[in-house]
Amino acid sequence: MRISQPAGQPTAKCSHCGTAILVMEPNLMPFCSQRCKELDLSNWLTESYGLAYEGNDSADPSDFSPHDNEDR
Ligand SMILES: [Zn+2]
Repeated sequence: MRISQPAGQPTAKCSHCGTAILVMEPNLMPFCSQRCKELDLSNWLTESYGLAYEGNDSADPSDFSPHDNEDR
């Protein structure tokens, strides 16, 4: 069993689906296609955004007052 892999040409794999990247697109790296890039990126963004939002202690508390009692 032999895999034809030209020397000097590193084979990259899609970070999302693991497909070998044949055409190196700087805009898509390290993904095989725009679809994989967007899918993986959206997952990553959703996760990081949720974590960042959870650990956001430096938010201005005066902007989110729990005691928002207005006299009527
Ligand atoms: Zn892919």
